[in-house]
Amino acid sequence: MTPLPRPANRRTDRRTARSATEARVAELSDRLEATERDLERLRNALDGVARERGTSVTVPCRCGRSLLLYREGMLSCPSCDYRRPV
Ligand SMILES: [Zn+2]
Repeated sequence: MTPLPRPANRRTDRRTARSATEARVAELSDRLEATERDLERLRNALDGVARERGTSVTVPCRCGRSLLLYREGMLSCPSCDYRRPV
């Protein structure tokens, strides 16, 4: 007589799935923190370069691809054609 296949152990399956999810969340959290540190370094470097050129980095452009730059009474976006005197 052939033995019946064992039913899947749902408790173990759920535990394995949860630990895999927790590991993935921890990995994504680490990557997010590293990205935030990189972004802060880049922002500080950008602000320094802009200051040396007499430019201020301001708010996001409506194109969504860059921050607006302010210099000598003019706001401009380096990614699109937006320019506006202020
Ligand atoms: Zn733009």
